[in-house]
Amino acid sequence: MTTASNTTDRPYWDEKLETQSRADWDALKLDLLKKHLHHAYANSPYYKASFDAAGVHPDDVKSLADIRRFPFIEKKVLRERQEALPPFGDLVAVPERDIVYISASSGSTGVPTASPFTAQDFDDWMDYEARQFWSSGLRPEDRYCHSLNFSLFVGGPCVLGAQKLGALSIHAGTVPSERLLAIAKQFQATAIWTTPSYAWYLGETAVKEGIDPKKDLAIKRIFVAGEPGGSIPETRQRIEALWGAKVYDYYGLSDIFGSCAGMCEEQHGLHWAEDHILVEVLDPETQEPVAEGERGELVLTTLKKAARPMIRFRTGDIVSFTNEPCTCGRTSQRMLGTHGRLDDMLIIKGVNIFPSDIEAIARKDHDLTGEYKLIVERDNHLDILTVEIERAAADASRDAELAHRFAGHLKSITGVSARIVILPPDTLPRATHKAKRVEDRRSGVWG
Ligand SMILES: [Zn+2]
Repeated sequence: MTTASNTTDRPYWDEKLETQSRADWDALKLDLLKKHLHHAYANSPYYKASFDAAGVHPDDVKSLADIRRFPFIEKKVLRERQEALPPFGDLVAVPERDIVYISASSGSTGVPTASPFTAQDFDDWMDYEARQFWSSGLRPEDRYCHSLNFSLFVGGPCVLGAQKLGALSIHAGTVPSERLLAIAKQFQATAIWTTPSYAWYLGETAVKEGIDPKKDLAIKRIFVAGEPGGSIPETRQRIEALWGAKVYDYYGLSDIFGSCAGMCEEQHGLHWAEDHILVEVLDPETQEPVAEGERGELVLTTLKKAARPMIRFRTGDIVSFTNEPCTCGRTSQRMLGTHGRLDDMLIIKGVNIFPSDIEAIARKDHDLTGEYKLIVERDNHLDILTVEIERAAADASRDAELAHRFAGHLKSITGVSARIVILPPDTLPRATHKAKRVEDRRSGVWG
């Protein structure tokens, strides 16, 4: 474990680990995986029964690919096991007295599922958060404003990673935007963490209040998570232009831990925390690994988290990845971004598209505000997609040209035709949290 020191110009938090060869990464992961599977099998009644039923044993693991012999686990199983054996369920692999922290996530439906941590799990997690913040350029000289929810939310404690790194850490939480701007201004915060849609909203709110984010505030780094926007270059660039700051995308899951992948200063893809998670990207239907650059479902296996191992957890997130070495010198593999939830995927006339595909087009066109809404209807067995976008100017004289241009980009990128509706600026609701921009009026879509 590393601690912050005065050597703030060093590029890595843990150089030996972060720059090791791919062969060393694989050896480390295989060693951790074997131990972790044995721990799960020996201490969690659920995994013992699940592995036995599938006819697999931790001793069967000779290579990383052998993980594919083990059964998947889905969110609904966590919920069922937790309800059968409250409060934590029988995936837990330590006595309750060893659990010191829980986060909870609600997912889309039902009772929130708890994600328990031992003291060691929590310390390991914070060391990773510090490493990730460091990779995104945060240093002890920074003043870091943490504006995520603290109430049972796994993003809350990540502020302690910034504190461990040595940054002045401002535990702002989720406060009204005027209050947050006042805090950022008073303490001249240099970095902040929020969602991409909120970063945009906050910047626009500042401008409306007569605050110039580029001059009156000192924010140079914005960490974002929770939505695909942070990995859509066009969205990132517009937030960056509004703030005069760099935007770094992070990815995390309550059922694993806070952020478990993040952008380094190169801002090209998110380095995975490969000493904490074993990553698979699989075709959601065939469950075969997809090739580099292709889209597939992210399936994660914890490698260290003792309190509740997660073996082959289907995240429902559709991602793509690259094996190319990063110019930052870190050798961990990178996710090229989350394209959306499997649940968010729209099938329009048989073509799979994500709201993030449309967002990229809307954010790239500077005659538009970048806000958008999708409405999907079905008429006479045909899917009709309507995209509502806003022009940036008050004047409506160029609406036909804007609509034609947008429809052309959409068709060439996704292959889908749509009805484009141009609205005046400030018509669509501004999302302040996880943006909900799709209205699917079809019935029996998945049937
Ligand atoms: Zn990098």
